[in-house]
Amino acid sequence: MRRRHDDLLHSGIGMTSQRTRERLIQRLCEEGLSSAPVLEVIRRTPRHLFVDEALAHRAYEDTALPIGHNQTISQPYMVGRMTELLLAGGPLDKVLEIGTGSGYQTAVLAQLVERVFSVERIQTLQERAKERLLELKVRNVVFRWGDGWEGWPALAPYNGIMVTAAAPDVPPALLEQLAPGGRLVIPVGSGDEQQLLLIVREADGFRRHVLETVRFVPLLQGSLF
Ligand code: SAH
Repeated sequence: MRRRHDDLLHSGIGMTSQRTRERLIQRLCEEGLSSAPVLEVIRRTPRHLFVDEALAHRAYEDTALPIGHNQTISQPYMVGRMTELLLAGGPLDKVLEIGTGSGYQTAVLAQLVERVFSVERIQTLQERAKERLLELKVRNVVFRWGDGWEGWPALAPYNGIMVTAAAPDVPPALLEQLAPGGRLVIPVGSGDEQQLLLIVREADGFRRHVLETVRFVPLLQGSLF
């Protein structure tokens, strides 16, 4: 019995061990992520703290996982990919994130840019994300409970905007709140699968790049307790 208990304990620790995290990083490299700073931040961010304890053993798999309220923590590949796309134009000081969810993508972003402004429509998810970031001593994030369709106009413009839920069309408010040269990364489409878009605000308008097919939960309207 004793032995069995120890084994279980050990395997539990193994799931979140450094070696398990290294395997994830290796997999992300194989899938095409290439930014050393982004990979380093993913390596050192404890994703198991952003999911329920019962799912912690799966936290370093490259997969989305449920976080309650019909929402999911994004797949690590997607977190890395979207972060790379946002940062590819150079350093960013002000980033708006729509869809805080578990706060995992927020924590990754916050370690790579100066300030993150993060909007979430489900208050209980937002409260938990806030606690996690406090615990991890991530301090350069400001949270807002509200509807991300409207962005966060009072603090605009932003050099980068990342949306982690799929919209049928690009919300016009987000385009308006993008600074000149600013970059918006957003999944767009209304079915189960969407297209990941990068939109760059240039002197003569918005340039759209269509990147790859993705699967996100929908960007909904209004806010909820
Ligand atoms: N990046 C998050 C992903 C969470 S899933 C993570 O890795 O944990 C998408 C999130 O977007 C959900 O938390 C959902 O509640 C939120 N969301 C959906 N529509 C929204 C809206 N209109 N405004 C703000 N947040 C929204």
